[in-house]
Amino acid sequence: MLTIENLYVRYGGIEALRGISMQIPEGKIVTLVGANGAGKSTTLRAITKLITPALGGITYKGESIMNCTTQDIVKKGITLVPEGRRVFADLTVEENLKIGAYTRKDQSEIRKDIDYVNDIFPRLKERKNQLAGTLSGGEQQMLAVGRALMSKPKVLMMDEPSLGLAPLVVKDIFAIIKEVNEKAGMTILLIEQNANAALKIADYGYVMETGSIGLEGPGMDLLNNEQVKELYLGKI
Ligand code: ATP
Repeated sequence: MLTIENLYVRYGGIEALRGISMQIPEGKIVTLVGANGAGKSTTLRAITKLITPALGGITYKGESIMNCTTQDIVKKGITLVPEGRRVFADLTVEENLKIGAYTRKDQSEIRKDIDYVNDIFPRLKERKNQLAGTLSGGEQQMLAVGRALMSKPKVLMMDEPSLGLAPLVVKDIFAIIKEVNEKAGMTILLIEQNANAALKIADYGYVMETGSIGLEGPGMDLLNNEQVKELYLGKI
C-alpha cells in the first residue's frame, strides 16, 4: 500500500535518513522502533511531506507521491497523529471530533462515526462536553486518535502514542490500535520507543539505528531476537 525506497533526508549537514526502505501492506500494523534521534519522526515527516527528501522514492497504491503536497497526501487518506497529542484545548471533546471530519459533508455519516469513536472510547463519551485541555494525558491521546479516525483515513500513522502515559493507559492505547486495525481493517504505521508494546501488536517491525534500518521482521520474531532484546527491550 505504502512503499518507501532508499530514502535519504538531510537537515543541513546532518543526514537523518540514510537510504531506508520499508513496506506497509494494506490492512497490516507495521511498527518502526528505535532509540531517540534514530530518525523515526523524520520518516513520518518525509511521508507527509513536512520535509522534502533528498533522494529516494515513496509510492502509495503503486503511484509515486514524491511530488505531492502535504494537503494532497491528507486527501489521499494518509493521516498523521502527531507526537504530543495536539488537541484543541479550548474546544470540547465533541467539537474536537467534529473538526476531524472537516473535509466531509454528510452529517448523518459524521454522527455515526462520532458514535463509533464513542463506542471504542467510552471515556470520551462521558466527557463529550468537557474542554479538551482539561482531559488527562491518556484521555487527550484517545481524543487525538478519535479525531484522526473521524477523517476516515486509509493509512493511520502514529508518532509515539505511548509517550508520557502511565503503563495501564499505554496498554489501553495499544489495545485500541489493534482493535481499530482489526475492526476497521485500517492500515497502521506506528512509531514507538516502547518497542516491547509496539512489536507485540505489529504484524511487521523495522528497527532503526541512526538513520538506517538495522533489523526487520515479523513483530513476534523481533520480540524474541536476542539483539533486539538486549538493545531495546532490556529495561521494559
Ligand atoms: P525521538 O524518538 O527522540 O523523537 P526520532 O527517532 O523520531 O527520535 P528524529 O526526530 O527523526 O528522531 O531525528 C533524527 C535526527 O535528525 C536527530 O539527530 C535530530 O537531531 C535530527 N533532526 C531532526 N529534526 C531536525 C531539524 N529540524 N534540524 C536539524 N536536525 C534535525
